Amino acid sequence: MSYFICPVCSGKLDVRDNTYSCLNRHCFDVSKEGYVNLLMSQQSSSKRHGDDKLMVRARRDFLEKGFYSPLQKLLCKAVSKNVACGGVIADIGCGEGYYTKAVSLTNNYNVFGVDISKEALKYAAKLVKNASFAVASAFSLPFEDESCDCVLSVFAPSAYEEFYRILKSDGVLIKVVPLEDHLWDLKSTVYDEPYKNKPEIRNDDLFRLVSVEELKYNITLDCNNDIMNLFKMTPYYYKTGREEIQKLSFMTDLETIVHFAVEVYEKR
Ligand SMILES: [Zn+2]
Repeated sequence: MSYFICPVCSGKLDVRDNTYSCLNRHCFDVSKEGYVNLLMSQQSSSKRHGDDKLMVRARRDFLEKGFYSPLQKLLCKAVSKNVACGGVIADIGCGEGYYTKAVSLTNNYNVFGVDISKEALKYAAKLVKNASFAVASAFSLPFEDESCDCVLSVFAPSAYEEFYRILKSDGVLIKVVPLEDHLWDLKSTVYDEPYKNKPEIRNDDLFRLVSVEELKYNITLDCNNDIMNLFKMTPYYYKTGREEIQKLSFMTDLETIVHFAVEVYEKR
């Protein structure tokens, strides 16, 4: 069964023979990789369409090496603790599916991945066989009101109003965010005056924080490819001048701290 809704009329979509369709006969074909594009043309007029090929490939190559597997495990633990077996989980901004895959192999969850980047979903749909993927904006999600037990937002932009809308009344939002010291050694290498991340905890009239788990450890990168891949995964890559990037291009090893939080929120 599909949990996606039609981006034209908001009717429920059924999937048959690789086509999603609603009662009003709006149809959306599943791509050869296995995702469906539910992004409306007026939503896709923005210049950059999510993560480009370069960034997606860098992230996939880096994550495949297991540097963030402790985070992947901690996230699955948080999900298991807060979401009953078989629950509906929407991974919003799922990227190439590294965390989606781990969650989809846990507790028989019914997992849906959404990302604005087609390039990312090409990988995700191939990597994760027991989840469904749709191209859509986090700010206009293809789910019915109160249809999900859990929203995951892993290093992704948070559209709190939409998350609130699609979560059941007892649903949870689980966020992964970088903390102060994240990639400190990498940033110190590139920038003369690096700054610390400023984490933001959400406590407003939509969501209430119920738990936070911190994770901090060192990773050792022993080839330039890994170092450049890590840097390309970060938002800094696009804001950094050529001279500063040059500093990294000759490095062959780097030890850097990684520092994350897994935050669990309830609906108010
Ligand atoms: Zn429709």
